[in-house]
Amino acid sequence: MFPLQRVVVVGLGLIGGSFAKELKTQHLCVEVVGCSRSQTTRDKALELGLIDTAEGNLEAAVKGADLVLLAAPIGATEALLRKMAPALNGRTIVTDAGSVKGNVIAAAKTVFGEVPPWLIPGHPIAGSERSGVGAAKLDLYRDHRVILTPAPGADQTALETVTRIWQCMGAEVVTMDAEYHDAVLAATSHLPHLLAFSLVDTLSKEGENQQIFRYAAGGFRDFTRIASSDPTMWHDIFIANQQAILAAVDQFQQGLQRFRQAVEDQDSKAMLGAMTRAKVARDHFT
Ligand code: NAD
Repeated sequence: MFPLQRVVVVGLGLIGGSFAKELKTQHLCVEVVGCSRSQTTRDKALELGLIDTAEGNLEAAVKGADLVLLAAPIGATEALLRKMAPALNGRTIVTDAGSVKGNVIAAAKTVFGEVPPWLIPGHPIAGSERSGVGAAKLDLYRDHRVILTPAPGADQTALETVTRIWQCMGAEVVTMDAEYHDAVLAATSHLPHLLAFSLVDTLSKEGENQQIFRYAAGGFRDFTRIASSDPTMWHDIFIANQQAILAAVDQFQQGLQRFRQAVEDQDSKAMLGAMTRAKVARDHFT
């Protein structure tokens, strides 16, 4: 199976750049093509040795490729698929790294009328609040999970190729239904990011030019690190996974309201019950 001939990475930021770097370091393909709209990003990716060839034109980049990874913000998925479509020959495997999967499936149905068998939607559960080509690094995916959400008609060779490529990068690959993926990630990733953005925004407005942050300690730093994440990427996630995120926010609001009530009532039993349950659950999570 490996090395593949030509693998194209579309979007050379933290996720795409790290994927490209692994491809090259592990010789998983003969040629790594990096596709980005920005000349500066293309030059930087070449300079950092992340890719062999840089291409600004998406259609030209994907022509004859064995595999394409889409690693741009998810709001761009439909436009990228549309632009690539004329160059796809049915043998090129297309996968993606987007944090929401329902929108990739919807985009594919809009562009191709179905989820093509060669499209294997995916999501590496790895990353950080850093972004851009300079953030790319080796081992980003090692010991992390990658979730693939293949459609029922997915080509088995395509699924196996995408699975093996992530495994070569040290990841554990699991497959699941796209709707379940989006509900789980809404609760475990999208809600915490929304809370962190909202908390820091609220406090910075009220804190007169962030003066209060001078008095913040480690807990605040830990809780809000993810508020430094890229706003464009997260905007796209909040748009693409709207329903599941609203459900997670509503559920959280009920828990918050119960906690607020316990504080107002000085209800020690309720407060200690909630915190003990949370501590036990968190202590089991590594
Ligand atoms: P990033 O901002 O570091 O990189 C995105 C890259 O895409 C940049 O090079 C940018 O110039 C390019 N880009 C932006 N708009 C584009 C467009 N319309 N067409 C083509 N390229 C475009 O972001 P990232 O963290 O690498 O995230 C990329 C994808 O991976 C997103 O879909 C995100 O949901 C997903 N993801 C991110 C993380 C994370 O923690 N950062 C984790 C898992 C998955």
